[in-house]
Amino acid sequence: MGSAKEQMLHEEAATAVGEEICVRAGVLSPCPQHNEMLLSTGSDLVSAYKLASALVRDRDPLVRGFSHREVTDGVKAAIEGNPAEECTHPSHYD
Ligand SMILES: [Zn+2]
Repeated sequence: MGSAKEQMLHEEAATAVGEEICVRAGVLSPCPQHNEMLLSTGSDLVSAYKLASALVRDRDPLVRGFSHREVTDGVKAAIEGNPAEECTHPSHYD
C-alpha cells in the first residue's frame, strides 16, 4: 500500500523507538510523576545515536522493520520533541 497515512504511522512508530533508545542511553528520562519525557541535563546526545546504530547492527527486536536512517531520524525526532529539562506539568507549580 504505502499510503501517506501508513507512512505517517511508520514515522510515529520510529519516533517511539527513538524515544525508547534515548531512555536506554540516558538522554531522555520520564518525569517521576508524569509521562512527560525530559532531556537529561548534561547528557551526551551522541550516545543515543551510537546506541541506535548498535541496535540496528545487532538486529535488535526494538528496531525490527526500521532502516538505520529511520531509527536515526526517530532518535532525532524524540530529542527535538522533548527539549525541556524540567517537567512543565501544572501540578509541579501548585
Ligand atoms: Zn512532572
